[in-house]
This record gives sequence, C-alpha cells and structure tokens, in this order.
Amino acid sequence: MGKRMGDAVGAAETLIRQAHVVQQHIGPPPVAGEAQRLRSAVATATESLQRVAEQGRRVGLAAGADAESRFRDASRGFERPGRAFRTLAEARRHSREEEDSYRRQLLARHPNARPAAVQPGDYAGPADPRQAPAGSTERLSVEVAGWMDRSVLGDALAGRFARTPPLVTEDPHRLFQFEGLLTGGMSAGGMYEPGTNHIMMDADAMADASPAARRHFIAHEMMHYAAYLGGGATIRWRDGRGAAVIPSNMEFLHEGATELMAQQLSRAHGSDPGSVSYGAETTVAFYLQQIAGASVLGAAYLGGDFTSVRRAVDAKLGAGTFDRMAATGNGSGALVYLRERMQARGMGAELAVWDANPIVKTAGAID
Ligand SMILES: [Zn+2]
Repeated sequence: MGKRMGDAVGAAETLIRQAHVVQQHIGPPPVAGEAQRLRSAVATATESLQRVAEQGRRVGLAAGADAESRFRDASRGFERPGRAFRTLAEARRHSREEEDSYRRQLLARHPNARPAAVQPGDYAGPADPRQAPAGSTERLSVEVAGWMDRSVLGDALAGRFARTPPLVTEDPHRLFQFEGLLTGGMSAGGMYEPGTNHIMMDADAMADASPAARRHFIAHEMMHYAAYLGGGATIRWRDGRGAAVIPSNMEFLHEGATELMAQQLSRAHGSDPGSVSYGAETTVAFYLQQIAGASVLGAAYLGGDFTSVRRAVDAKLGAGTFDRMAATGNGSGALVYLRERMQARGMGAELAVWDANPIVKTAGAID
C-alpha cells in the first residue's frame, strides 16, 4: 500500500515535503526501460553476495553456529506475541502511545516542527468489533479474520492465530504521517506492529477505498501477523550443503508474498481488491508460486524457510538462480532476472501464461 501525503499544517508540511522527496528517491524503479541498469545492479549484488559468502567461509564455525542458532529460533516462530492485547480499548491505547512516541521523536529531530495535535474522539470506538457498524473497519476485520482458517494457515498456526486473534483499530491518518516521516516515507495504509497482535489501519486510506479494497488491506496486515507467529518474518534457507543462510535484504520477498497471499485470499472470497500493492514484488512471488507450487510457497511464506522453494527454482531455471534472484535485494531486479532466466531456458510461452494472470496484470510491473 502506498503512503499518501497531504493535509498537515504549519512546519510539519515542510517535513512532509522532505519525506516525499526521500520517498521518490527510494521508491522501487519501474521495470520498463530500466532493464539494462537493473541487469548491472543484479550483477553487482551477486558479486557482493559472493564476497559475503567467501568471508563467511573464512570466519567458519562462528558465523555458521550463529546462523544455525538463529535459524532454529526462527523455525519455532512464536506461540503468542510478546505483547498481546485483549480488547480494542487496549489496542487503541497502544495506538495513542505510538502516536505520542512518534511525535516526541519528530520534535527531537525537528524542534521547530508543529505536528498536528490529537483531536477529541480520535481514539474512540466500539469495545467489541462485532458491535461496530456494518461496513466499518472493525466489522470488516471480523469477517477477514474468519478467512484465516486452517486451510490457509495449517492446523498449528491457525491455533496460535485464534488464541491471540489480531485486534484491528482504525487510527487517524496523522499517526501514519508521523511514522512515515520517521522511517523515510515507506509507511502504508495499514501497519502490523511485530511482536504484538495489533494492526493499525489508516482512517483516510480506508475512507477512500472500496469495501473490497478495505478487506484486502486488512487481509494483507493479517498475513503479516500470521507470518510473524509462524517465523515467516525471518526469511532463510539451507544451502546445498545444509548450512543455514539468513540474508538481510529479503523484505521485498516478504512483502511480495504477503500481497500475493492476501490477493488470492480476497479473490477466493469473491472480493476483488481492484489494485495490487508492491507490483514487482508480488509478480516475483507469483512466479515462485508457479514454480514451487502453492502449498510449498505458502508454507515458506508463513514459516520463513525457503529451502524447498529454492530447490524448485534451481531445478527449473538452473543451479544458483534462486540465490542470484535473492541477491538483487529488490522486487524489480528479481523480476528482471527471473524473466531473463525463463527466456534463456526457452520458457517464453509458459511465462506468457503466467503474465496473463489477473493479479499479475493488475500489478502492472510488466507490459
Ligand atoms: Zn506489508
């Protein structure tokens, strides 16, 4: 989901303009017309990953043992979030704490900023989501949480999810503006806060969206929560010799798979979101799903272990393909690279079938 800028007042507007500039600089580049530049980025990233691998080999056991223990920790996931909220009132209090914390950090960085203040009623709402008005974020969240069943999450994870269900609050746009300013403009229409069962949705983004789009935004954040519980936030795999690999630049794959799962979940329930966030990242996740199979990619996404996906990709597209794709560290580079591998292996016709998928077409990352 893209972050929108806008209606702040006073000095905060300057901050927002600055963040907008930052956002333009760090946003993912379009694929069309950039293939050449991306190819060199892929080559550079591959070289640097190889250097890291060489260093790891020299460091030897220490790095290996550390990665192994982190790998095993992540494989357990979390039985419950470290901070579990029980009621919407508790969750709203948490949102308010977050806004206050962001405001303090903004003022520490920009003493002359005058960020907008909390308004009466900003953090008010029904205590029980089932009592909220039909069509409201809270009520839609009850519906979407019902989609996240054993058929989607598997028995064990569905049990964890149901024991500490996500609490979804609709919070003022201002909270998301502040968060975006602090993190460089990469915030979204919704946020899942890792380590909790709390999802915050941007009131302005929700007001502008269709009911299907709103269900989908909620489903996207709920996928993040389920993946957090399952260990999916730590993308990792075992290499050909069984050694644990935990790269640090896999956010693009996590977001793409999150969006893909949420898109497919929405559509399975007859709710077409109408647009796709993270177009290139989601297209990459779709390709991986076609190669590895839906159940293999789903388990990798929710649990974080991509060993089976890597094996399937390398079997189809050649040894080393998955690692080079991962080494790009971004959706556009990974997309260009996977498409090149498909073409090089004479699989253009199969690729054309994938590209006719409605989610890929709506994502708009290829033309
Ligand atoms: Zn996301």
